Order: sequence, then C-alpha cells, then structure tokens
Amino acid sequence: MADILIRGGTVVTADSMGPTDVLIRDGKIAQKGTGLETDGSIFDATGQWVMPGGIDTHTHLDHPIGRLGVRTADDFHVGTIAGACGGVTTIIDFSLQDRGESLLKARDRRLGEIEPNSIIDYSFHTIVTDVNPNSIKEVESLVESGFPSFKVYMTYGDKKVGDGDLLLLLEELAAKGGLAYLHCENDCAVTHLIERHISRGETGPSFHASSRPVLVEAEATNRAIMLAEIAGAPICIAHVTSKLVAGHLEEARGRGQPVVGETCPQYLVLNDAVYDPEGGFEVAKFVCSPPIRDIDQVEALWSTVEDGLLQQVSSDHAPFHYEDQKTTGRDNFTRIPNGLPGIETRLPLMFTYGVKAGRISPSRFVELTSTNPARIFGMYPNKGSLKVGADADIVIVDPNKEVELSARCLHSAVDYTPYQGLRVSGFPTMTFSRGEVIVQDGEVIAKRGRGHLVRRQKIDPKSLP
Ligand SMILES: [Zn+2]
Repeated sequence: MADILIRGGTVVTADSMGPTDVLIRDGKIAQKGTGLETDGSIFDATGQWVMPGGIDTHTHLDHPIGRLGVRTADDFHVGTIAGACGGVTTIIDFSLQDRGESLLKARDRRLGEIEPNSIIDYSFHTIVTDVNPNSIKEVESLVESGFPSFKVYMTYGDKKVGDGDLLLLLEELAAKGGLAYLHCENDCAVTHLIERHISRGETGPSFHASSRPVLVEAEATNRAIMLAEIAGAPICIAHVTSKLVAGHLEEARGRGQPVVGETCPQYLVLNDAVYDPEGGFEVAKFVCSPPIRDIDQVEALWSTVEDGLLQQVSSDHAPFHYEDQKTTGRDNFTRIPNGLPGIETRLPLMFTYGVKAGRISPSRFVELTSTNPARIFGMYPNKGSLKVGADADIVIVDPNKEVELSARCLHSAVDYTPYQGLRVSGFPTMTFSRGEVIVQDGEVIAKRGRGHLVRRQKIDPKSLP
C-alpha cells in the first residue's frame, strides 16, 4: 500500500492541538511533523481538523430483545456504515449470554455475525445474565483472549443479575484483569412504579419516564460502587444521566476507587419535554432507559462532562423502527422496545453542543469520544491516539460545515432520528480505518467485512482515566 500524507491540517488529540502533517504507512501512523513529503498520495486538510477516529463502546447492532421478539433495526453492515459516516472507526458491541449458555459460545456466535459484515474494527463486551460456576470459570478465557469487559444489567427481567451474583462476578473480574460495565437501575423500584402506573390505567409512553426516576438510578449506582469496593474490582457505570448519580462516582473516585462513568448525547442534548403527553404515541421515539431528564438535570450533567467527573461519551445506539417496532407498545408502554439511534450523530452532537458551544475544548472532545474509551476498555494507544505506531484510524472534520439532521440524510435503517431538524457540524469529510479511506464526503467506499477484531488488553485499574 502506498504511503498517504495528510497535509496542512490542524491535528487535535487528547493532549494537544496544532498544525501538523501526518504520514501513514502500512496502515499505521508513521511520522508527524510539519513540511512532510511523500511519493504516495496526498490529502489536503487545510482548514480542517485531523483527529483520532471515534470509538463507540456502547452499541447494540443486530441486538435481540427476546421478550418482545424484535431485533434492533441496524445489522452489523448498515450499523457500521452509519458509524463510519459519523466518524466512528471502532465499536465495542455486545454478546448476550442466553440463560444457561456458555459465555464463550455466546461470544463466538456474535463473532460469526459481525465478521462478514463490519466495515470498521470491533470487539464485544460479554453480557452476563446467568452467573454460575461455568460462567465464572470462563471469565479468565475471555479476558486472556482479548475480551476483558463484562456488561451487567441490574434491572431488565430475566437479564437482571442480583447483588449476590454481581459480587461473585466482580471478585472474579478483580482477580483476572476484567472490568464490569454496569447498567444501574433499582429493579424493585422500577417494577413497583411500573405496576402502579399500569394498575391505574396509565399505559401511555409518557409514563415510561416517571417509572424510572433519577433516584432509582442513583440508588443502584451507589450500590454497584459499594459492591465493587468490597470486591476490589474496577467498574464503568454506563449512561449516567444526572449529577446526583455522578456525585456517587465523584465520592468513590475521591476515595481512590477505580470507577469511571459514561454519558450519552441524548442526555445532554434532549430534555424531558420529549415525554410531553401532547406528543401522543410519538413520545415512544424517545423511550430509552434510563430516560431523558429535565432541563435542570441536563445543564448539571454538562458540568460533569466539562469538569472531568465523567470520562466518556458513547451512543448507546439501540435503534428501533417507529412504525412496527416502537408501536408494539401502543397499548402498554412496557412493551415499547427501549432505545434510540445515535451511532452516526454522537460525534457531531458533541462537536456542536460541546466544542462549538464553548463548553468543552477540542482536546476534551477527543478525550471523551475516543481516547478515554480506548483507555478504559484496553485498546490504548493503538486505538484512540495518533501516536507514531498506532493504527491510522483518523477522521478529518471541517469545523465550519453544517448539516441539518434528518432520518433521510443518516445511514441507519431506522425510520426516524430523535434529532430531526437540528443543525450540526462535526461530520467527517474523510474517515480512515487503518490507513484506508472508508468514507469520503459522505460516500462509503469500504468493502463489507473489512473490519478487524480488536483483541484488547487486560484492565489495569491504575491506568483508568
Ligand atoms: Zn445499552
């Protein structure tokens, strides 16, 4: 493969920003500096920003919701195309253990699904739903083979892992170099609040939010942190929606506990006006768990992103068609599949509402959306950096180019976007994956199945951001 030179751009990384040329050789960053020359091809990035490709560690592509008999609307081909068009060069999706199933078997089944389809690099978190002696035994093989992170739901019916089992799993993760990635909501409280709504005939989609208030999230988060401290295990709290919840992380980090937290653009850009019953059943488009919070909480959540209290922003991309999937819950909000599309809009939304709005610096943007995700989940510095020797996963962004968001201009198969009509910048003009151009000016030029599995390192609690 001929060398590639990206010339004249402003390189933005987690720790610096300035005019730099980048030379790519054999899919890796070979050299950085000014006035570089090459006999290979040259891309002029004058006036544009050159950044490490986005890393989205929370996507649900081709993800089954057994209870409702549906799968998310994007398969691994369409979903990774949407990602690449939004500047994402690596995803970590999930392999879901069926009850009684071997964790290794669940992972291998998912590898078989993604391998022929993904256009970008990938890995999986193992969702543990059944903690038993065999699953505990398999933790070590997963960690050793490059899958060191394990997702646990503290709620969600038959997917839920109880406190005793969680503690057992956390101890094993601590011993073997794994990391727990936790969905924290108090299952008893959620179940109770749902039943109360339903018994009163309150079945519309707006009642989704009031059945999952901030307190159920805060309680479960605090419990997870305490259990992790007992076990001595590092944890990452998924989709933190409020400052109250982030406060529990702050206390734990203050005690020196290896705890990190993520939030998602929907909790920073939208607010609970989307649940206004005036919206009728279309409110279902915004049904996700935890739900979107009120405007005061949204403002407070921004402060946690600005001051470093939360370490990463992922999408929690879980797209369901409005027609024929969300509508499953027309007569009962508990039957609305939970989730929003977001893999393609994560970087532009954070760029627009974070960087352009003056809330976060360009370097902090890169840190939240690429470098920290790589650090937390064992891929740094090969991913999430532009260090010499790292994979040449690069996005080039024209900071001044604006786009109006609509479902039609996005690449997900889903039939709506929660961000309809918003004007954003931050879409890449080019996306490189291991030195190959995979998207140029919105046109996808990547072969299906070209993505590679990323084998990740064990988690060292001391190296968490
Ligand atoms: Zn999720």
